[in-house]
Amino acid sequence: MDFKQHIRVIPDFPQPGIRFKDITTLLKNGLAYKEAIDALKEKVSRYEIDYVAGPEARGFVIGAPLAYALGVGFVPIRKSGKLPGDCIEASYALEYGKDKLAMHRDAIQPGSKVLIADDLLATGGTLSTTIDLIQQLGGEIVAGAFLIELTYLNGREKLGGLEVISLVQY
Ligand code: 5GP
Repeated sequence: MDFKQHIRVIPDFPQPGIRFKDITTLLKNGLAYKEAIDALKEKVSRYEIDYVAGPEARGFVIGAPLAYALGVGFVPIRKSGKLPGDCIEASYALEYGKDKLAMHRDAIQPGSKVLIADDLLATGGTLSTTIDLIQQLGGEIVAGAFLIELTYLNGREKLGGLEVISLVQY
């Protein structure tokens, strides 16, 4: 399937000059959504995976169905102050803006093999913060899986050779 056809590009959102890749148009198409998750599942099937971890909010939309399809657990990574239990935190910069991500301290056990999932890899800031959190807990990151990769922002290069899987590239 040509997934790009289902992604809408919105100019100047959320700031002038940003060409936002809107995935809601893909998500609302049941076949496109299912095929996208199935395609990611296929691409990660060679890894041993204990958990899929995804940053809010769009990381949930990709990560949770992927975890379900793989038959493994899903670990939510949230903005600071949202998770109810004891958390670890790390701050990060986005393509636009800045924020802090948090994860429950007991979310994974040391040595767990974790696949990180999100809708889009841009600068790699969100992914490297997610990696930081998982590594603080002794997890081993097997790969990052994304619907979309903005290759012109070179996010991959920041990630020290981590395997990056993406379905659509711009
Ligand atoms: P990065 O941290 O790699 O610079 O940015 C990726 C994060 O920002 C992802 O969590 C993603 O959801 C969000 N993001 C940045 N730009 C876009 C975009 O154009 N479209 C979508 N859907 N998400 C974006």
